[in-house]
Amino acid sequence: MVNKVVLVIFDGLGDRPINELNNLTPLEAAKTPNLDNCAQEGECGVMYTLGRGIVPGSDTAHLAILGYDPEKYYHGRGPLEAAGIGLKLQPGDIAFRANWGTVNDDLIAIDRRAGRIEDGTPFVNSLNGMEIDGVKFILEPSIGYRAVLVMRGKGLSYAISDVDPHSTNKKIKPCTPLDESTDAKFTSNVLNKFLEKAHEILNKHDENKARTSIGKPPANYLLVRGAGKHIDLPPFDTQFGLKACCIAGGGLYKGVASYLGMDIIDIPGATAKANTNITGKFEKAVELVGDYGFVFVHVKQSDNFGHDGNYLGKKEFIEKIDVAFKIFQKLDKETLLIVTADHSTPCELKSHSADYVPIIFKGSGVRSDQVNTFGERACSNGGLGILLGKDVMGQVMNLLGKLEIYGA
Ligand code: ZN
Ligand code: ZN
Repeated sequence: MVNKVVLVIFDGLGDRPINELNNLTPLEAAKTPNLDNCAQEGECGVMYTLGRGIVPGSDTAHLAILGYDPEKYYHGRGPLEAAGIGLKLQPGDIAFRANWGTVNDDLIAIDRRAGRIEDGTPFVNSLNGMEIDGVKFILEPSIGYRAVLVMRGKGLSYAISDVDPHSTNKKIKPCTPLDESTDAKFTSNVLNKFLEKAHEILNKHDENKARTSIGKPPANYLLVRGAGKHIDLPPFDTQFGLKACCIAGGGLYKGVASYLGMDIIDIPGATAKANTNITGKFEKAVELVGDYGFVFVHVKQSDNFGHDGNYLGKKEFIEKIDVAFKIFQKLDKETLLIVTADHSTPCELKSHSADYVPIIFKGSGVRSDQVNTFGERACSNGGLGILLGKDVMGQVMNLLGKLEIYGA
């Protein structure tokens, strides 16, 4: 019987048949002897992460697969982003993702990343801790032009609109409430006051004067989006009795994992980009699974190729993953290895879709089936049948022999 788990999620791996690939998906067209071997030894199936006809975001999809029903536990993206940079929030805090942006005198966004500014710390220092109408504003720098903004106080709601116009040459729209509640009205109001005040301070900021004098765009507006409300979740180890860690490059995935109380393991060269150190991640997973009991490994770039519509890049990246995947042959039989994706990102759509993704469970006690290749359609013939994302942890607990009987 298995007694520990490695869960590997390839972001946006699923795809649709592509003419130029002889009507195969990038995963089906890729040469993947090691993944195929895993499919052959394991039990396969397909998964609708959130359900049929629901297009998963990466955040909600990961929550579901990790056993946290997003309907109950998801309250917007911001808190996950905050967790990703190690910011400790209090229940009721409203968190946002934020960019340092450049606006002109008419408040038209001319650069959403202020020339990809490398360090927003001087601006953070000038705005952090401001209080308006009893609400405290906490700002924390993230990588480069990114930051996290937190509103702390009574009567706050996350049912409010984004201020970030999401594209350039658009005017900044004030934040508006998205429901009828007084909390949403109050929150959007106070946020608008803060952003106006911040804009004033940033316009006069010495650092921005210095930037403008050498022809760089000033960081004179805080573009916020993805409001979310922080709630305390039951930690993963108490929920499932498994001490868990996460090996990921992308901030969101570290954020989800740390939100669930997992340890975050940093690997040199885990960049969440095409040059990411996949071998290093897989090796670390093999090394740590004995200490932890549950290791979640995330690989991001497969999703980015889908968003770019680059099916050849996606296929080649999958082949690169497969070479590194051989490392998992070192796992003993008592390790349950799960391989899947959080959603499909079809190159044709350049965005996420509700198409199912393939999944493999491999390890002692798993009923291997007749599937012998890892692909969307091949896995649809597997013994696991059709799963939902929220079924995964139940399957895991069953294979670990940790489920209690229902009835007598
Ligand atoms: Zn994703
Ligand atoms: Zn995506």
